[in-house]
Amino acid sequence: MKIGVLALQGAFREHIVSLEALGVSPVAVRLPEQMTDCVGLVIPGGESTAIGKLMETYGFYDAVAQQHGAGMAVWGTCAGAILIAHEVLDALPEQRSLDLMDISVRRNAYGRQVESFEADLDIDGLDGGDFRGVFIRAPWIESVGEGVEVLARHDGHIVAARQDDLLATTFHPELTGDPRMHRYFVEAVVGR
Ligand code: GLN
Repeated sequence: MKIGVLALQGAFREHIVSLEALGVSPVAVRLPEQMTDCVGLVIPGGESTAIGKLMETYGFYDAVAQQHGAGMAVWGTCAGAILIAHEVLDALPEQRSLDLMDISVRRNAYGRQVESFEADLDIDGLDGGDFRGVFIRAPWIESVGEGVEVLARHDGHIVAARQDDLLATTFHPELTGDPRMHRYFVEAVVGR
């Protein structure tokens, strides 16, 4: 099972380590060709504007849309969730998203970097109790379309959602050492 991790900027190494711990051999994707035959792609957290610029430079916008159309599942965490969203609120004027998932995401919704926090989350589809959510200058999901399942909320705001082969989490599961969210992506979303 070939799963790619977009490795342009942000926390891609931690996602690679988390996937390796599950016995998956992830591929660090730096060029669109490296996604060939990928059944899943993780877009990591980091800075959505920086990742977006690099994606533009390397031709990822068309390539990801095409591969997703051909069946590749996509999971966006934090900045990655911004990048897969249909609509980005508080975006920079030139900021562009992939527009894959029917969600509206608000950038930096909790405020500045100092407003980063951790919280226990009750996530649908994950057994074994709460999941520690690490929120780093995080967005939240302001609204979702009809085909989107809300998986978790924090303080009333949506922080995890799924639409068929698309998964969005606004926190950083790769920083906690808890394998359940990665397993959910691999087994329930990619392996659906
Ligand atoms: N604030 C970042 C952005 O707008 C996202 C932060 C993150 O990915 N941890 O892209």
